[in-house]
Amino acid sequence: MAAVEEPDLLESFSNLKALAQGEIDESADIPRLPPNTSTGVLGNGLTYFVLKNKEPKQRAELFLALGFGSLVEEEHERGIAHIIEHLGFSATKAYENHAIVKFLESIGAPFGACQNAYTTFDRTVYTLHVPTDKDGLVEESLKVLREFAYFTRISQEDLDKERKVVLEEWRESRNAQGRLSERYVQALCGAGCRWCERLPIGKEEVIRGVSAETLRKFYQKFYHPARMAIIAVGDFDQEQIEQKIKELFDLPPATIDPLPRCSVEEAPKRPRYAVPDSEGVRVASSTDPELSFAQSMVDCKRPRLPVQKGRDVRRRVTEDLFHRALGSRLLRLTLQGPLGGGPRDFFSAGTESSDPLPALPLGRSLWHGAFGDLGT
Ligand SMILES: [Zn+2]
Repeated sequence: MAAVEEPDLLESFSNLKALAQGEIDESADIPRLPPNTSTGVLGNGLTYFVLKNKEPKQRAELFLALGFGSLVEEEHERGIAHIIEHLGFSATKAYENHAIVKFLESIGAPFGACQNAYTTFDRTVYTLHVPTDKDGLVEESLKVLREFAYFTRISQEDLDKERKVVLEEWRESRNAQGRLSERYVQALCGAGCRWCERLPIGKEEVIRGVSAETLRKFYQKFYHPARMAIIAVGDFDQEQIEQKIKELFDLPPATIDPLPRCSVEEAPKRPRYAVPDSEGVRVASSTDPELSFAQSMVDCKRPRLPVQKGRDVRRRVTEDLFHRALGSRLLRLTLQGPLGGGPRDFFSAGTESSDPLPALPLGRSLWHGAFGDLGT
């Protein structure tokens, strides 16, 4: 299979030039995947993405992404999506504790959950960075991801051991900055916002008291192949890895043992919770005895605009340039301070749009194909 050619620096300048001069096709679609990505859906509904990428050499990144996180938890389950993520590293059907430690050592990974995985509001992601020069390691890593996907062991004993670790993480999240950002999010969203009520770290009483049975039910329902993806990117044989994924992951949902999953048609849907809009200007202030500096923020909620077309890229690049220009001006005022004639003495100030900027440059084929070769 042909290697993907990386656009060079000069070419990326021509992209910006094209944007600046209005020479892009505003209605062209932005591709969702890099060219040459192999993708497909297995019989059990699992989606995969595989891409050979030669840099860094002899390395691969493998991901298991589950389309659910803390937003689907009920009140008495707050924090369990994260606990389940931890339990995967504690033990699975094929890997007892000792075997998982050994495996993580073999790929040079730091041991443990939250170093190789994360749980957020709407997804749970397991990641393994694997050397590809040692025979069989990529395949074994895929097998470990399959264990997290289908066979995490959730016994009362495993859970009781892991509670202490998770409680420690909960405690760490309760520092001054953590408390402040929780109050900030609540002020921003207002009452009845699902996002405020489902912080992934969860509630102390749930972490202390939840039963293994509650966790098993959650795992059985939400860890459904039809709501998962395997993503493999690295310096490997793309077709071979695609084949391996097909072999390893296509288990019919009803045969997954000991927690069989429902049919693909009945797989739970991903929920959509909007952040509530607010009337007028809301003002909130908060103090914390442990905080050593003062901070103020102005936020403006706007509808989320997708980046799908050439014109959306232009809009986002324009916004980004605006924030950079304003940021430079604020930095200058910061550096001047009152002695240098600046208006205030503050340590830092910044402005941003929380929308991530789409990756630019987007690749030779897109720009040359959809937008035309504009030269440098
Ligand atoms: Zn954790």
